[in-house]
Amino acid sequence: MDPSTNSAGNPSEEPAPARDYRLYLPDPETWSARVKVGWEKEYCFAKLPGQDYLHLLLSGEIYIQRGDEKLCLWCAMRRNILTEDRLYWQNRPRVASIPVSGL
Ligand SMILES: [Zn+2]
Repeated sequence: MDPSTNSAGNPSEEPAPARDYRLYLPDPETWSARVKVGWEKEYCFAKLPGQDYLHLLLSGEIYIQRGDEKLCLWCAMRRNILTEDRLYWQNRPRVASIPVSGL
């Protein structure tokens, strides 16, 4: 046995640590993250297919906004405006980020 070998493990086989709950907004120039303050009624602009009600935003709820358009995080995730994918910038290159070269 080679003592320099770490037999405790291959990092890829270690149990996953507590889940990483970070969220990413791949289009931060367009959308901004907000926190609702106060109890006046405001609603998410999106509806789930088949649902006939709007998602009420609660005081303290984090939502995202673009102009007057507000989305709860659930709908933002569903529409891929928010992502848990830390590598979104590799996996989903934005058209504007693709260099225009070789012309
Ligand atoms: Zn919603």
